[in-house]
Amino acid sequence: MSEAEALAGELEVDLGAIVANWRDLGARHPSGPAAGVVKADGYGLGAAPVARALAGSGCRHFFVAQLSEGLALREALGHGPMIAVLGGFPAGADAGAALTPVLNSPRDVAAARAAGLRGAILHVDTGMERLGLNAAELTAAGDLSDLGLRYVMTHLACADTPDHPLNAAQAARFAAAAEALPGVPRSFANSAGIFLGRDFASGLARPGCALYGINPTPGLPNPMRQVLRLTVPVLQLRQVPAGVTVGYGATWTARRDSRIATIAAGYADGYPRALSGRSFATAAGRPVQLVGRISMDLITLDVTDVPELAQGDRVELIGPQQTPDDIAARTGTIGYEILTSLGARYRRRYLPA
Ligand SMILES: *Cc1c(COP(=O)(O)O)cnc(C)c1O
Repeated sequence: MSEAEALAGELEVDLGAIVANWRDLGARHPSGPAAGVVKADGYGLGAAPVARALAGSGCRHFFVAQLSEGLALREALGHGPMIAVLGGFPAGADAGAALTPVLNSPRDVAAARAAGLRGAILHVDTGMERLGLNAAELTAAGDLSDLGLRYVMTHLACADTPDHPLNAAQAARFAAAAEALPGVPRSFANSAGIFLGRDFASGLARPGCALYGINPTPGLPNPMRQVLRLTVPVLQLRQVPAGVTVGYGATWTARRDSRIATIAAGYADGYPRALSGRSFATAAGRPVQLVGRISMDLITLDVTDVPELAQGDRVELIGPQQTPDDIAARTGTIGYEILTSLGARYRRRYLPA
């Protein structure tokens, strides 16, 4: 480790755990191996290393959101696996045969037909109202057999709420749409959808978050393996006498003579400022409280009860004791947002698959 790296946060990504999660999701799914959703740079963990590990374990289908992500991923993976672009291609974009566009509107369908494009994915909307052809548009599109569609897909709005009535409605609408496209394989479930039962399990599943250890069954124990460990070095330790305040706005006052550790991460690295004084880290195996305001580049911790902690030691900010889901719950967001906010300044270290 270089001197610069010794003073920066390190994100340890367990590629073996990601591959194990992918295998586990495929085993739960009657149609077999799942795709890997690696949009937004693999949910912040690194699309190229994640996708290479999955491809090396047999994953043949990948989804990204944007054309630029697809082009970069093709560079990383070489020829072979399907790389589908959920947002589709901008009009006129020539991605060659390297990428698979998702057709999200009648206009996309017409453009694909005019270009003689074959092998795209058709997105039908069944209740999300973001992208995709609705039932009337699908009917109006008529016979699509000339497009050689690779898949027909839809996306669930409420998969993480198993009792929500929209789930069954979407399953019924998707079945009807797919019946109008005989012989076209289906793609339905996201991570949470895989856990909803057989009506949701047909065809190619598209898990994202669960690969990365986010709980796809909120309210129930997390069946996935944890993937991430974020450790941040202690830049300085100081004694703060009782009655003295720490940090911006002087929001925290030491009630006892305290030992404060300042660590090298802040909201610029994606740790939510809203968690000032309301979150924990793990120092030498013990929980320690974040005190005072979270700054752009620094966080202060009360480590009075961890006397052995020394300057340069690493404190765990994300890991088994503080999962991305735990941190998200404290600040009213979802684990996805914690992951995709993980900062560019962290060194990413990959444990091999
Ligand atoms: C992001 C996304 C997924 C993956 O969803 P997760 O909840 O992360 O499993 C699947 N399909 C589509 C269309 C998506 O946009």
